[in-house]
Amino acid sequence: MIDEKLQPILNEVMNRNAGEQEFHQAVKEVLESLGRVIAKRPYYADNALIERLCEPERQIIFRVPWIDDSGQVQINRGFRVQFNSALGPYKGGIRFHPSVNVGIIKFLGFEQTFKNALTGMPIGGGKGGSDFNPRGRSDREVMRFCQSFMTELHRHLGEYTDVPAGDIGVGGREIGYMFGQYKRLTNKYEAGVLTGKALFHGGSRARREATGYGATYFVERMLATRGETFEGKRTVVSGSGNVAIYTMEKVLEFGGVIAACSDSNGYVIDDNGIDLDLVKEIKEVRRGRLSEYVKLRGAGAHYIVDGSIWDIPCAVAMPSATQNELTGRDAKRLIANGVMAVGEGANMPSTPDAVKLFQDARVLFAPGKAANAGGVATSALEMQQNASRDSWTFEKTETRLAEIMRDIHDRCAETADEYGAPGDYVLGANIAGFVRVAEAMDALGVI
Ligand code: GLU
Repeated sequence: MIDEKLQPILNEVMNRNAGEQEFHQAVKEVLESLGRVIAKRPYYADNALIERLCEPERQIIFRVPWIDDSGQVQINRGFRVQFNSALGPYKGGIRFHPSVNVGIIKFLGFEQTFKNALTGMPIGGGKGGSDFNPRGRSDREVMRFCQSFMTELHRHLGEYTDVPAGDIGVGGREIGYMFGQYKRLTNKYEAGVLTGKALFHGGSRARREATGYGATYFVERMLATRGETFEGKRTVVSGSGNVAIYTMEKVLEFGGVIAACSDSNGYVIDDNGIDLDLVKEIKEVRRGRLSEYVKLRGAGAHYIVDGSIWDIPCAVAMPSATQNELTGRDAKRLIANGVMAVGEGANMPSTPDAVKLFQDARVLFAPGKAANAGGVATSALEMQQNASRDSWTFEKTETRLAEIMRDIHDRCAETADEYGAPGDYVLGANIAGFVRVAEAMDALGVI
């Protein structure tokens, strides 16, 4: 339910951003939590603060022309939404996926603003991307695309202005090509302008692992509130990209069992538990499809193309693929099968009805803006290392990441308690993130 003072703000957002369904969904969810804040501290609604928070500071949309291997000119659309810089330079990933449009980037930039605030690090929120589909494209094509994309985007970036990183479809290879083009255009070795770089370009150890590890640390701490651990628990992780792979790695380290993982074509279920080394080999080395898993693994493994990965009984579910991948129907199935905790590794993977079903059933539920903040938090550690021209050990970086995730968990839990909703991590994350951004914005005056 949305507070009557906030409903007009949501209406205005919907009118002004017509048709941008994911953005409406993300704003609605946050505004639903803010009624309790303005009831307690009405001054947070002064000076149109909430209205300003819902309007990106700047939106950049540009043409990305590039030449494919057959000599044809291809055109894609590039985006960067610089959402909020009250706490620091805009920070957030770049997504290359055919589904990308301005509404998706706006929802991601909005979520990023609160997520980044929750980390406690000095970073604002932004997001970018393109409708470019890297699947099936050669290395050279990806390189030419990244160079063209950066040729326009570079003028809007800078270590004190806007610092992108990867997201779906953008990993170490793409960051390398974009960093190369930025360096060439500016004639500056400005390592702090991008994160997720290779170690030899000033990248951070543990950055690649950080989102998945961080989500698992968060769920571990959430389980501990009920005296539980991952030990022996069947866990289903959707996706098989960077977030999913390192979620599985940490769950295994914590003694859990991975029952299944997926890609956009289907999912793999393995009676002997997913062989993570094989998934890494297929995805990271061969850049292949998960369907190859069954051929290579043999007996006990099945690849299923129709159906939902959430039909598989598990104690812990970690949706780590994409937005709205876990529906109300899936939530009902998971609850009927006895799920105990859900940790969102992706951004907004559960639909609003799924979230409500989990909460009504008292399933521990960690929203993405809290649970998957480890990636961007480690990006902030990468910026810190770049600024001091230092390079930390894996252990030091992972220890900081674990501390940050513990702090985010505790801040969300304490905020939920303070606002009369114990155990509601959605409310806790939205309010704690909002309060930090709102205070920083307010102190800057009406800008
Ligand atoms: N794309 C990641 C996210 O959704 C990481 C962003 C970053 O490191 O800047 O948070």
